Amino acid sequence: MMASASASPLGGVQKARLIQIGSEWLGLGLPCQPILGPCTADIHVGELFRRLADHGITMTRAGWWKPRSGADSFPGHGSTGGRWVLDAARDYGMEVVSVEVMDTSHLDAVRRVRDDSGFDGTIVCWVGARTKNQPLLRALGDQTEFPVMLKHGLADAGVEVVLNDLEFVTRGTQRWDDSGNLILDDSTPKNDNILLCVRGLEKPVHSDTPHRFDSNPDWIGKLQKHRPVVLDPSHIAGKTRFVWPVLEEGLAHRPSAVMIEVHFGPGDPKRRVALCDAAQAVPIDEVPRILEMLAQHNA
Ligand code: PEP
Ligand code: MN
Repeated sequence: MMASASASPLGGVQKARLIQIGSEWLGLGLPCQPILGPCTADIHVGELFRRLADHGITMTRAGWWKPRSGADSFPGHGSTGGRWVLDAARDYGMEVVSVEVMDTSHLDAVRRVRDDSGFDGTIVCWVGARTKNQPLLRALGDQTEFPVMLKHGLADAGVEVVLNDLEFVTRGTQRWDDSGNLILDDSTPKNDNILLCVRGLEKPVHSDTPHRFDSNPDWIGKLQKHRPVVLDPSHIAGKTRFVWPVLEEGLAHRPSAVMIEVHFGPGDPKRRVALCDAAQAVPIDEVPRILEMLAQHNA
């Protein structure tokens, strides 16, 4: 649901918009919220969500389809994995589940899995850094069932590129007449329930950062003027030990939420390892450290 300025929990006029996701409001001036979960859903997602719920987490992430840099890398369990995720979310009281959709067919698949599982929380459909495409952006704008999170691309030249992509979502599908004139049609509702996500940029060849991607925390403040911004320190960091400094650096720019990859970790007696992005997963035992950082930041 998109709030009007007067209905905002801050009471006053807000320049940037506020969005309600689950029971939380996200936006400039409001506490930064955690969105935690595995990079990719695996068969153990139920236990992971149970343990996240024990830590009070209600907003999660878990990929069903994963774009990969190698053709032989695990691409996610698709709708089967989605069913594990939504059944677990339903069973452990998760209010929000976030999932990457790579093309327009995935929107229908998400709908089907949701209806089959009976999950009645919010599903945020996100556009990933590698698979952004204009038909998908427009299709996300044409529907109002799922809030959207728009991750910027790996090589986006600046926030202007992100704002341009944002317009494809807010406009949705448009029509031009035979002479090539744009026909403005406001009769169909467009989705304006949109988050933006800062996730790091491709490094120059001779970069000396130890992180997987170049950190771009200054984009947070610039984008936050337009929509609530989610910081993804996991993909910037690339390694678990770098997630902490990247998170700290990013929090200084006041994101509305942080989305962090979590898995069982090296202490897991069953030795379960994340099928995707294991090197950057924060062990579930360290979730309190994330929450403590957010509590201090929000105080
Ligand atoms: C992810 O969040 O798991 C992911 C693949 O992100 P990105 O598209 O930013 O690389
Ligand atoms: Mn990942």
